[in-house]
Amino acid sequence: MSGVDVAIVGGGISGLAAAYELTKRGLSVRVLESSDRPGGVIRTDRFDGWVIDGGPDALLVQKPAAIALCRELGLGDRLVPTLTPRTAYVLRDGRLHPIVEGSFLGFPIKPSAFVHASLFSWPGKLRMALEAVIPRGNVDEDESIGSFVRRRFGTEAAEYLADPLLAGIHAGDADRLSVQALFPRLVEAERQRGSVLRSFRAHNMKPAPQGAFLSLPGGTQEMVDALVAALPPGTVQLGSRVTEMHRAGTYTLETGAGPVQARSVVLAVPAYVAGSLLGGFDTMLAGLCAAVPYASTATVAFGFRQEQIGRPMKGSGFVVPRLERTPLLAATWVSSKWPARAPAGHVLMRGFLGGGRDPHRTERGDAELIAAAREALAEIMGITGDPVVQRLYRYTRQSPQYEVGHLHRQASIERRLAALPGLFLTGSGFRAIGIPDCVADGRDTAGRAAAWLGAEASRESRPPAG
Ligand SMILES: Cc1cc2nc3c(=O)[nH]c(=O)nc-3n(C[C@H](O)[C@H](O)[C@H](O)COP(=O)(O)OP(=O)(O)OC[C@H]3O[C@@H](n4cnc5c(N)ncnc54)[C@H](O)[C@@H]3O)c2cc1C
Repeated sequence: MSGVDVAIVGGGISGLAAAYELTKRGLSVRVLESSDRPGGVIRTDRFDGWVIDGGPDALLVQKPAAIALCRELGLGDRLVPTLTPRTAYVLRDGRLHPIVEGSFLGFPIKPSAFVHASLFSWPGKLRMALEAVIPRGNVDEDESIGSFVRRRFGTEAAEYLADPLLAGIHAGDADRLSVQALFPRLVEAERQRGSVLRSFRAHNMKPAPQGAFLSLPGGTQEMVDALVAALPPGTVQLGSRVTEMHRAGTYTLETGAGPVQARSVVLAVPAYVAGSLLGGFDTMLAGLCAAVPYASTATVAFGFRQEQIGRPMKGSGFVVPRLERTPLLAATWVSSKWPARAPAGHVLMRGFLGGGRDPHRTERGDAELIAAAREALAEIMGITGDPVVQRLYRYTRQSPQYEVGHLHRQASIERRLAALPGLFLTGSGFRAIGIPDCVADGRDTAGRAAAWLGAEASRESRPPAG
C-alpha cells in the first residue's frame, strides 16, 4: 500500500491548488480524482479554431488569488482582458437593456445612470434612489439576496437585478441565497453607512478600467493543465474514486485502484461527497456537509456564421429575469467577450439552463435542452439557420447554493472538524465560491495541513516525559 504525507480527495481547482501548495512546501501528496480528467467543473474543448469553456470562463480581477497563481505558473503573459465594449444586458419584455455606465453590481450609482437606465421604469428608479434615505435594517440577521434588495431598493430592483444578476451568477434563487455569504459587501455598506448607494458613492465604486475579468487564450483549462504540470509526476491519480476512509494511526482511503495511506487528508470534493466519506468519523458533521444544497445546470454552446446573427453582439451577453418567458437563465457572447474563441467569420455564444430557479429543467434529454436554448437564443438574437457547432455540457449537482444560514452551518462544520486530527475540508461547497476563492481556500487549507503535520512530527520526536 502506498503512503504519502497528504492525500487530497478531488482533483478540481481546489484540490489541485492545495496539492501545489503542499508540494511547494516539500510534502509528498497524492490527489485522488474519480473522473478520467483533472479540473472538475473547469473544462475547455478546443477544435478547428473553436475554444469552448463548458463551465467557468472568467477570473475575477478583484479577488487576486487565481491571477496570482497563473503568474506563479508562468501564465502571466497569457492573461487576457475582456474585449470592449464590456456592456452586459438584462432582458425585459423581450428586449435587451444595457447595464449603463455609472452602475455597480447593476445598481445605478451616478445620477446619469439613473437617467439612462432603460431597464427600469421611472417609479422603479425613484424607489431605487430612495435607498439612500431608507433606515438601516437589522444587519446582523442573515436574509436572502432578494429580501435585501427588495427591502432597500424596491421590487423592480429585486426582479430585474437581484434575481437574474446577483443570484444568477450563482445559478440560484434570489429568495433563498444568503446575502451575508455571497454579497457581504452589500451588508457591510448598510452596516457602515446605513445605505448601499451612499457607501458606493463615498468609495467611488466603479468597474476597473481594464475590465473586471481576465482569462486565458486556451480557456480556463490552461490553468488546470499548468497546475498539473507543476506537480511532481504521478501526483494526480485519475480514475480513483474514494469510496471509504478510516483511520488507525494514519488514514487509509479505499479507491477502485487500491488503497492509499496518508498521515493527513484534505477533502476537496462536493460537500455531499465529503458528507458520505465522513459518516464513519462524525455523523453530525457528515449530516451538516450533506445538507449543503446543490443546483444542476446545463451550458449549451453554439457556433454560427457571423451573417446568421440578426442582432449586434456588442458586449459580454445578457441575463434573464424569471418574469421573462424563456428557459434561458443567461447567455454569454463568448466571441465578443474574449479574443480568438471562434474561427474567422464566426461567432460563439453560450446559453445557460436550469439552476435553483428552474430545478427540473436539466432532467430533460439532451436534444430537448439544446432545442430550448437554441430557440430562445434565436428569438432574442434574431438568429437564422442551423448552428455550425453545438455542444451541451451538463453540470449535475455541481453548483453549491449558499442559502440563508450557510455561514452558521459552516461555523458548525468547522467546530466539529477541529476535533478530527489531520482532516481538512476545502472546495466550493464550504467557504469558496468561484475559482479565485477556491484557489485561496485550497492553498490556505494546505497551509493548515502542513502546520498540523509539522506539529505532529515535533510531538512524535519529543522524548517521553519523565
Ligand atoms: C457552469 C459554471 C460556470 C462557472 N463560471 C465561473 C466563472 O466564470 N468564474 C469563476 O471563478 N467561477 C465559475 N464557476 C464556479 C467555479 O467553476 C467553481 O467554484 C470551482 O471550479 C469549483 O472547484 P472545486 O475544486 O471546489 O470543485 P469541483 O470542480 O467540483 O471539483 C471536485 C472534484 O472532486 C471529484 N470527486 C467527486 N467525488 C469524488 C470521490 N469520491 N473521489 C475522488 N474524487 C471525487 C470530482 O470529479 C471533481 O473533479 C462556474 C461554475 C459552473 C458550474
